[in-house]
Amino acid sequence: MNLRLDSALKWLVVSVILLNMPIRPVVPFPADRPANRAGASAQPELPSGPQIRAAMEWFASHRAWIDDEQARLTEIPAPSFEESERAAAVKVLLSAVGLEVSTDKAGNVIGLLRGESDKELVILSAHLDTVFPAGTDVKVHRDKSRMTAPGISDNGAGLVALVAVARALHEARIQPRRTILFVADVGEEGEGNLRGMRALVDAYRERLKAVIVLDGSSIDHVTTKALASRRVEVVITGPGGHSWSDFGIPNPINALVRGSVRFINTRVPSSPRTTYNLGQIEGGTSVNSIPHEARLKVDLRSEGDDELIRLESALRDCIAAGIRDEMETARDRSKGKLEWRLDLLGSRPGGELAPNSPLLATLRAADEAVHNQSRLERASTDANIPLSLGIEAIAIGAGGNGGGAHSLQEWYESDGREIGLQRVLLTLLGASGIVGEKS
Ligand SMILES: [Zn+2]
Repeated sequence: MNLRLDSALKWLVVSVILLNMPIRPVVPFPADRPANRAGASAQPELPSGPQIRAAMEWFASHRAWIDDEQARLTEIPAPSFEESERAAAVKVLLSAVGLEVSTDKAGNVIGLLRGESDKELVILSAHLDTVFPAGTDVKVHRDKSRMTAPGISDNGAGLVALVAVARALHEARIQPRRTILFVADVGEEGEGNLRGMRALVDAYRERLKAVIVLDGSSIDHVTTKALASRRVEVVITGPGGHSWSDFGIPNPINALVRGSVRFINTRVPSSPRTTYNLGQIEGGTSVNSIPHEARLKVDLRSEGDDELIRLESALRDCIAAGIRDEMETARDRSKGKLEWRLDLLGSRPGGELAPNSPLLATLRAADEAVHNQSRLERASTDANIPLSLGIEAIAIGAGGNGGGAHSLQEWYESDGREIGLQRVLLTLLGASGIVGEKS
C-alpha cells in the first residue's frame, strides 16, 4: 500500500510540475539518442525562432475555428470515389492561405507551398474519404468539446489539421527550404485501395523526400511499418429457379455458406499477426427464389507476406470445397452447375521505415519538444505506398482524442489538440527545413 501511495504521490508531483511547465516550442536535441547511435545521418535540428513560435501559438488562439471547420468538413459526405464535394471545400481553404492549389486526375487536392528549391518535395497529406456510404447521416452532434459523427476523427481530425498547419505557416510567414505539398487525397479507405496516394507518389516520386500522413487523432503511436493486405471478392453463380418447384438444384448461397464455414475454421498465427474478415455478403433476389448469384468480400492481412499468400489460397480451397459439397448434394443438376471466381479488389503492399530514418528522428525530436511519447506501430495507411518504394514516410494522428472509427458512434474531443498540431508542424518543418523571414 505504501509503495502504491508513494508512486501515486510521485506521479502527482511530476504531473503538477509538467502541467506548470510552459510548452517549449523547441528544445535542443539530446546528443545520445538511440537513433543517432544507430547511425542516423545527422542529429535533427528542429527549426526554431520567433516565426516558429508564432505558428505554434496560432493553434491555441484559433481553437474554435479549427473545431468548426472540422465539423463543417465532416458534414460533407465523402464515401470513397465520391470525394469531390469535400475536396472542393478543402480547395477553398488551402487557396485562402496563399497556396497554389490544383486538383490532379485522381481527384487529389494539392496545395503547393513553394520552397527555396522545388527540386525536393515533402508531402503532408490527409485522406478525404470515409467508409460511410452515401446517405449516411453525417450530422455532427456537439457537446462541449466532444463531437460525434461518422468520420469526425477518421479523417475529419486529419483533414482539419492539414488546413490548420497550412494556415499557421502562412500567418507566421514561414518559407520552407524544400517545397511542401499539402494534399487532401482520395481513395484511402477500403476499395479506394490507396489510389490517391498511388497517383501522388507516381507523379512526384523522383523529387519526393518524405511523406507525412495525417490519419485520425491519436498521438501515442507512429506508423512506421506498412501492413500488407489483400481484399478479394468471391462470386458464385448458378442456374437459379423457384424455391419449391426447382428445389434440389445447386444454390450459390448454400455453396458460399459451406465454403465460408470452412474458411472461418482456418487457423491463423498470432505471430506474424494474421487476420481475416468476412466483411460483406450479398446475393439473391427474394426469399422464394433460388439465387443465381452470391458474393462475399473478404479482407486478409498479415505481418508476413508468406502468411498472406497462404491465407488467400486457403480461402480459394475452402470456396472450391464449398462448391463441391453443394454440387455433390444437389438432387437436380440438369439445369446447370455452379461457377465461381475470386476477384482482387485491392492489394496494399507492405514496407518498413529504417530504424535510423531521418524522418523518424525528426518525429522523435518533435515528440520531445511537445513532451509526447509515442510507440512504433504497424498499420495499413496511405504511408504503405511510399514505404513499399523505400521513400521515407510515417502516418501520425493529428491530436485530441477520438474513438469508434468506422462506426456510426465515432467521436472526437479536441482538448489538447494543440500538442498534436505542434507535433505535426515541427515534424513537417524538420523534414522540409526553413529559410529566413519572407521579405
Ligand atoms: Zn483514416
